[in-house]
Amino acid sequence: MKFNTKAIHGGQEHDPAYGAVMPPIYQTSTYAQTTPGGHKGFEYSRTHNPTRRALENALASIENGNYGLAFGSGLAAIDAIIKLLKPGDEVVSTNDLYGGSFRLFTKIFLDFGIKFHFIGMQSASNIETYINENTKLIWVETPTNPMMNIIDVQAASVIAKKHNILLAVDNTFATPYLQQPIDLGADIVMHSATKYLGGHSDVVMGALIVKDEELANRLYFIQNASGAICGPQDSFLVLRGIKTLHVRMQRHCENGKAVAEYLASHPKIEKVYWPGFEDHPNHNIAKAQMKDFGGMISFTTKGNDYKEAIRIVENLKVFTLAESLGGVESLSGHPASMTHASIPKEEREKTGVVDSLIRLSVGIEDIDDLIADLEQAIG
Ligand SMILES: *Cc1c(COP(=O)(O)O)cnc(C)c1O
Repeated sequence: MKFNTKAIHGGQEHDPAYGAVMPPIYQTSTYAQTTPGGHKGFEYSRTHNPTRRALENALASIENGNYGLAFGSGLAAIDAIIKLLKPGDEVVSTNDLYGGSFRLFTKIFLDFGIKFHFIGMQSASNIETYINENTKLIWVETPTNPMMNIIDVQAASVIAKKHNILLAVDNTFATPYLQQPIDLGADIVMHSATKYLGGHSDVVMGALIVKDEELANRLYFIQNASGAICGPQDSFLVLRGIKTLHVRMQRHCENGKAVAEYLASHPKIEKVYWPGFEDHPNHNIAKAQMKDFGGMISFTTKGNDYKEAIRIVENLKVFTLAESLGGVESLSGHPASMTHASIPKEEREKTGVVDSLIRLSVGIEDIDDLIADLEQAIG
């Protein structure tokens, strides 16, 4: 099956009870047994739930894995990955990464004796410098947030395999429509399904997808033992979201390209970060590992004025000023005062998060209205 068909049918069966085309929302905590252990495959909904199972099968299908796992949030999914490790283990991680992942690593798991190295991975060979006998995991996020750096997943996987280390990829920004990390050699794909997979800004959810059975069983054990699962209603919503992922992504990419080009030609704009530009430092890797370039864009204004950036995001009308991304509606954000406000100015500026940086999640509205909105807000 090709991707567009998998998005709709992958891993899905019509409901055996009445032939319902969409799996029912099995809003139940437990399942009747005829005799102790005599059940139909479901015992308790922390362990398994038929609606969540349908979603997990869809996730495995669209990411070209064999096993999917759904969690109560993206961070709960990452938490499950780090629980594969033990004190003394080390992780080599992308340095420009989602703030919540950084917080989980440094404020929770550092105290559990796990060591993290945050490094630039735009040149994948840099990873090897930080590997030693304790290294157990390489953590890659690409494109990165909010600087849109691109990391070569295949090159990272060659290093991971050489040293027998797990490679996990946060695929939230790209989605499997644009890039399929398992095919590029990753062991674990992670998603904040809150974003593009759900796609409608109405659910918080996380997901993991793996190919290897033994690794899947270790993660299922953690999912059940720690219990950070998602409910059946949310499972249903994300499953519904996935069915239009390919159509939405196509429009996100089209609108993203048009917005990136408009901003690049605007006299008041200093720099536009979008991997589709030929002068983006890793454009060639983006071109090789992604089908298209997505709808996430960051930009700075000339003069790099904090107040001017705030004025622009406040004046946007079709773009809503809000955290999050990946929904059908366009959002704007000002990292220096929002997602990265807790990072000291000198620190955040080292990675490019300067005062005037604005991040856009370009939605699937009419492109003329999006451009007109930017035009009136930037002036
Ligand atoms: C939002 C996000 C997360 C965290 O997911 P939640 O669902 O908010 O817990 C992780 N990685 C990336 C890239 C994200 O955008």
